[in-house]
Amino acid sequence: MTERTLFQKIIDGEVPGDFVHKDDICVAIKDINPKAPIHYLIVPRKPIPGVHEMDEMKDWPIVTHLFKVAKGLAESDGCEGYRLQFNVGEKGGQIIPHLHLHLMGWK
Ligand code: AMP
Repeated sequence: MTERTLFQKIIDGEVPGDFVHKDDICVAIKDINPKAPIHYLIVPRKPIPGVHEMDEMKDWPIVTHLFKVAKGLAESDGCEGYRLQFNVGEKGGQIIPHLHLHLMGWK
């Protein structure tokens, strides 16, 4: 069994997280070290390690949902511009091996 990630522990309530969204498929939390005025992490409840480990058949709808949630949060927070980013692999800057979409926004 793979070790549970920090994000899994936040989802399960074992580690505190600053939640800005929760639904059946994902949660969104404030990044603890924001790199933009608004910086959220949109994390699926399913512990997919990263983009490369996604199941080609089952997991694309989850990613679509993450983008929809990101767009909704950017709109409700009044972002005039924003960036959506997946880091992939250690060399791509991914520290936490649990798929997550960065939303970085500016008003
Ligand atoms: P990545 O480098 O794509 O794996 O992104 C991981 C992100 O998680 C970084 O931007 C960190 O600042 C953020 N992070 C690390 N620990 C926490 C935490 N406890 N709560 C919220 N965000 C965190």
